[in-house]
Amino acid sequence: MLEQVTILGATGSIGVSTLDVLARHPQRYQVYALSAHSRWQKLAEQCLRFRPRYAVIGNEAYRQPLSEALAGCDTQVLVGQEALIDVASAAEVNTVMAAIVGAAGLVPTFAAVKAGKKLLLANKEVLVMAGGLFMQAARNSGANLLPIDSEHNAIFQCLPLARALAQGDDLSTLGVNRIILTASGGPFRHLPASALADVTPEEACAHPTWEMGRKISVDSATMMNKGLEFIEACWLFNAQPSEVEVVIHPQSVIHSMVEYRDGSVLAQLGNPDMRTPIAHALAWPERINSGVSSLDIIATARLDFAAPDSERFPCLVLAQQSIKVGGVAPVVLNAANEEAVTAFLAGQLRFDRIAAVIAETLQDIHGPEPVSLDAVQQADAEARAVARQQIAAYWK
Ligand code: NAD
Ligand code: MG
Repeated sequence: MLEQVTILGATGSIGVSTLDVLARHPQRYQVYALSAHSRWQKLAEQCLRFRPRYAVIGNEAYRQPLSEALAGCDTQVLVGQEALIDVASAAEVNTVMAAIVGAAGLVPTFAAVKAGKKLLLANKEVLVMAGGLFMQAARNSGANLLPIDSEHNAIFQCLPLARALAQGDDLSTLGVNRIILTASGGPFRHLPASALADVTPEEACAHPTWEMGRKISVDSATMMNKGLEFIEACWLFNAQPSEVEVVIHPQSVIHSMVEYRDGSVLAQLGNPDMRTPIAHALAWPERINSGVSSLDIIATARLDFAAPDSERFPCLVLAQQSIKVGGVAPVVLNAANEEAVTAFLAGQLRFDRIAAVIAETLQDIHGPEPVSLDAVQQADAEARAVARQQIAAYWK
C-alpha cells in the first residue's frame, strides 16, 4: 500500500521541496491532496505532474481557472478552509505536511493532529500560538509529530526515545542538560545597528545560507525566527526555557545540538537544504534518499560560533520573554509579528520598528493561556487589531 500524503501549502518553499523528495520515491508515496492560497497556475502544474485526488485553492475566484487548467485530469478542485480540514483529516490520508505559513495554518494543522495523522510540522507558528493545546491533541489522538524545522529535526535526531518525549517525559529524565539551538544570524549579522532603519524587503529576504518564503526570511533577518523556534523547542521537547540556548553559527552546517549529563554533545550536520529534514520525517524511522548532495567537510573547513547580540536582535529576546511569561503572550507575539512583517514587506513599516510594534502590542494585551482554538483565534484577532494601530501610528 502506498502512503497517502497531503501537502498543506504545496506551492511554497517547503511544499516544493516536499514534492521533490516524494517524486524520488513513487513506489512508496502517493500524493492525495495539494493546497495553495492564490497561486493557482503553480498548483495546476503540480497537479498535472503528481495527479492528486484533490487540489484545494484558497479563493473562490480561482476555482474556475484552476478547474479549466485541470480539465482531463482526475483531480477534483475544492475551495477554502473547510476543504483544507477535509484533506488534512480524511480517513485515506496517512501523512500530512503542514507547510502553510503563519496563523492561516492553525485550523487545518489541528485537524490533522486531531485525526491522528503522521504530521510533518513545518508551520512553527501553530506551536507558538497553541503549543499546549497542540501537544495535548497529539497525545489524545496518538498523532506522530515529526519536526521539519531543520533545528528541531536535528534535535529530534540527537535525542533518544524521541517519541517518548512527545508523550511528555521531561528532558532531565533522559539525561539531557540542554538543547543548543543554532542560528545563522541572518543577512544583517554584521550590519551596524544604525543601518537597520534603511533595510529594504529585498535585502531582508536575501538569506545567506537558506532559500525560503518571504515571511520566514524576514523573521530570520530580525531573528524572530529563532525566537519562534525557541518556543517551538520548548513545546516539542517538553523543555524549560532555561534548558534551551541559542548560539550563532553562520555556516548553518550544524543544525542544532543536544548536551547530555555526562558531557557528550551530539550534533546533526548537513548541507542547508530542507529536503534532508523532509526526507527524514517522511521515512522515519527508516532513511531514504533526499537528493541532497554529500556534505563536503573539507570545503566547509570551519565551524564558527558566537553569542547572539540581544541589542541588535530584540525580537529574539521578546520571544524568549513571552514563553517565560506564558499565558496569552506567545499568541500576541506571533500575531503582532505577522502584522509587522506584512507591513514591512508592503513598505509600510521600517525594519527596525518591527520589534517596537511587537513590544507595544505585548504591553497592551495580557491574559491567561487560551483554553480552546476559538480562544486562540480571538486573542490572535485582538492582537492584530492593536498591532495595526501601532503600525498606522508609525506610518503617519
Ligand atoms: P512560503 O511563503 O514559501 O509558502 C507558504 C505556503 O502557504 C504557500 O503554499 C501558500 O499558498 C500557503 N498559504 C499562504 N497563506 C495562506 C493562507 N492564508 N491560507 C492557506 N494557505 C496559505 O513559506 P515557506 O517558506 O514554505 O514556509 C512554510 C512554513 O514552514 C512556515 O511556517 C515557515 O516558518 C516554515 N519553515 C520554512 C522553512 C523554509 O526553509 N522555507 C524552514 C523551516 C520552517
Ligand atoms: Mg529553522
